[in-house]
Amino acid sequence: MMKKLFPVFLLFAIVSCSTRKVDLIVHHAVIYTVDSVFTKAQAMAVKDGKIVAVGTNEEIQKKFTAAENVDAEGKAIYPGFIDAHAHFVGYGRSLFQVDLFGCNSWDEAVQRVKAFAAQHPDLPWILGRGWDQNRWPGKAFPVNDALNQLFPDKPVVLTRVDGHASIANQKALDLAGVKAGQTITGGSIEVKNGKLTGVLVDNATGRVYAQIPEPSKETYVQWLQQAQKNCFAQGLTTITDCGLNYKDVEAIDALQKEGKLDMRLYVMLSDEPGNLEKYIKTGPYKTDRLFVKGVKVYADGALGSRGACLLHPYSDRPDWSGFLLRNQSHYDSLARVLAATDFQMCTHAIGDSANREILNIYNKYLKGKNDKRWRIEHAQVIDQNDFHLFGDASVIPSVQPTHATSDMYWAGDRLGAERLKNAYAFKQLLKENGWIPLGTDFPVEDISPFKTFLAAVVRKDAKAYPANGFQTENGLTREEMIRGMTIWAARANFMEKEIGSLEQGKKADFILLDKDLMQVAPADILNTRVNATYLAGKRVH
Ligand SMILES: [Zn+2]
Repeated sequence: MMKKLFPVFLLFAIVSCSTRKVDLIVHHAVIYTVDSVFTKAQAMAVKDGKIVAVGTNEEIQKKFTAAENVDAEGKAIYPGFIDAHAHFVGYGRSLFQVDLFGCNSWDEAVQRVKAFAAQHPDLPWILGRGWDQNRWPGKAFPVNDALNQLFPDKPVVLTRVDGHASIANQKALDLAGVKAGQTITGGSIEVKNGKLTGVLVDNATGRVYAQIPEPSKETYVQWLQQAQKNCFAQGLTTITDCGLNYKDVEAIDALQKEGKLDMRLYVMLSDEPGNLEKYIKTGPYKTDRLFVKGVKVYADGALGSRGACLLHPYSDRPDWSGFLLRNQSHYDSLARVLAATDFQMCTHAIGDSANREILNIYNKYLKGKNDKRWRIEHAQVIDQNDFHLFGDASVIPSVQPTHATSDMYWAGDRLGAERLKNAYAFKQLLKENGWIPLGTDFPVEDISPFKTFLAAVVRKDAKAYPANGFQTENGLTREEMIRGMTIWAARANFMEKEIGSLEQGKKADFILLDKDLMQVAPADILNTRVNATYLAGKRVH
């Protein structure tokens, strides 16, 4: 009797130990794990939001059983995309404002504002975003006359595509107390024939923004949920928000805890006294979905509005080189303070002069190779002699490939041929640091990671311009691109142990695509669709 029973019992024990129950099995996929050697796998098992195993179909199906099984039917799976530089809250807000992106004239912008105002008669302020005078005949900044006529009693503020300039009507200027002839550090108030034009550049924009009433909680939730929905549909599972104040951080934290917001966020705090006081002493803040460890600083403005700080004058404005937004001593003392903390300094620098200033300060406090992961956001125009400053102090160049293909139409006018060669130099920057995180800077650009992919690999825009690509010597390979939008973006946020690749123990943030980015023809990149997005093992799109 015993002789017969024993083997049966043993067999049962082996079976029950060897098939483990998990929540989800994905099989028959081409899984790009984006591990250190870019391994491909066929299947993976997920439990409690984390990956428990990755392997062949046989291995996974032999070892695990799951309540939910997804047959990927041979389609590609990548880690969820991480946008290394964006403005999540700003994007959400922009979705509920006048959309001025793509306007081909100031008249067209005014018509859109008029239509929006008619549809939203109850709004106390009319806000818009996305105009770009570089797209218009004459390429000159607009003047607010039409806005004053249409809206004598309602304040209107329209932000330029890059967020570094805006045009306000007279009502808004009056509420903010802006007058012709006033000066402002790190900004300019445009005047024509002694009269305000309504255009405010860089720090001057803050005067009017400070008057805009704060949104209600319902409105705020609406912004963030719509932003999240759009991001999940594009395969984005983590967003780096480059510059929030502590009130936003607290609101986001509360919404995530209430289950009203799922998106994973890495946050850079804006360089404002209240924020630093709140967090610097207590150290980085971390929950399952939120990580606050960066400080966002602005060295200069943007190239399009000639706010970028250059070493030599603009090629299309010989008396002007742009300006730094704060005194050099501000950046130096902030770097000294942050170097003694666990916070990461992340500085927006576009012009070659701004980049040099910040790189020198970083090098002064970082003193050679290190793991502080301080970043330069944009790193757009670099003097040939300064590239080594990234490598010397392990400074991360955080770049946005679609800026190159958006700016290429006029960047040569601003910079001239010589300087343009060292602009948007992603490959050269990658060589310096060894890895490079990629983002979009949305809502400055579209949220689409596929546009980023196209811009960096082929160096063309959505219209397939230019035919041979823009400065293709600085393009990135497909593998570098995938890494830049996943594991390198995670690393730039100190999150590479949790997200950015599909490996055992990591969060199950992944996407199923209808086309394989490693294989798809360049002309088909923008036709790639995200069939499903999973965040922590849960389908969110
Ligand atoms: Zn930005």
